[in-house]
Amino acid sequence: MERTLSIIKPDGVQRGLIGEVIQHLEKNGLKIIAAKMIHMTGREAEGFYDVHREKPFFSSLTAFMTSGPCVVMVLEGENAISRYRDLMGATNYKEAAEGTIRREFATDIEKNVVHGSDALETAVFEIGYFFSQLEIVL
Ligand code: GDP
Repeated sequence: MERTLSIIKPDGVQRGLIGEVIQHLEKNGLKIIAAKMIHMTGREAEGFYDVHREKPFFSSLTAFMTSGPCVVMVLEGENAISRYRDLMGATNYKEAAEGTIRREFATDIEKNVVHGSDALETAVFEIGYFFSQLEIVL
């Protein structure tokens, strides 16, 4: 069993896609073991995306991520990290496979509806960034 962090980004929440995204997850056997809505501050978004601090899109990305509320969730399942990445599709929705969340709903390389951890260590950091032990159901 593995855990991963999922975020429905501000574009997904604002466009009414929470239900669609959750349906994709549940239909594909990923179990939600924690969930909440948050509206990140600039500092929170910068800390979350610290690995991208030097990228040219960093300030645009953090502005986008603080532009409205997000839904953050912890997902659990066998190979949850790679399975959820597969469901999301490529970062650039134009390169994402048919039937993936980003291919279906993203409108832009940045406004791509969802986030998912990309590796085990990242998942541990990202889950701990948003959730305490007590908020995760066992
Ligand atoms: P992910 O793991 O698929 O989310 O992709 P990355 O970790 O590479 O990038 C993090 C997020 O930054 C992406 O999901 C996009 O929202 C955004 N992003 C990535 N590449 C670009 C880019 O070239 N331009 C802009 N504006 N945003 C980007």
